Amino acid sequence: MTGRTHDAIAFASLVTVAAVSPPEHLNVATATAAIVGNIIGATLPDIDQSTNRLWDFLPGRDFIGKLFLPLFLGHRNLTHSLLGVFLVYHGLGFVLPRILNPVYVEINIIYAAMMIGYVSHLLGDAVTKEGLPLLFPFRWRFGFPPISALRITTGKWIENIVILPGTAAYVFWFIGNHHGDFVKLLKLISEG
Ligand SMILES: [Zn+2]
Repeated sequence: MTGRTHDAIAFASLVTVAAVSPPEHLNVATATAAIVGNIIGATLPDIDQSTNRLWDFLPGRDFIGKLFLPLFLGHRNLTHSLLGVFLVYHGLGFVLPRILNPVYVEINIIYAAMMIGYVSHLLGDAVTKEGLPLLFPFRWRFGFPPISALRITTGKWIENIVILPGTAAYVFWFIGNHHGDFVKLLKLISEG
């Protein structure tokens, strides 16, 4: 799937979780960081490609990219597996408390938003022909539906005409149907 579709699915997932299981506290900084973190989380699995936009934020990206890309062991391998989820979960659990200040933001909410983005990326890729090497380093690929011929091709019309607009429509429909929950969320934010 393309980055744009992954962003949309990640945001739809974040909005859904926020309404279904709302946080106890939420301030503007946390809500903003959660949305940004959600997109970063959704972009992370494809960091194993040199075209990934996260590399653009790094100084000397070409050099660093050449150095680190081999660590991901090829595209759609480690980062698209359960081992990858495990490593990212623990990696973020280690890094986030060291770079975020709990005085200003609720780290756990940002952490959850990033993981929602990450996992939603894998769910999105699961419906594409390539499938997911969930048990990497074993090479078996899994997808939904299980027969790969029934799955979609990245960047082709089903993704662009059905999945992307469908996800946007879902977000509008969901917010409309959970209006009360979102009013509560906005109240939480305004109370800080
Ligand atoms: Zn991917």
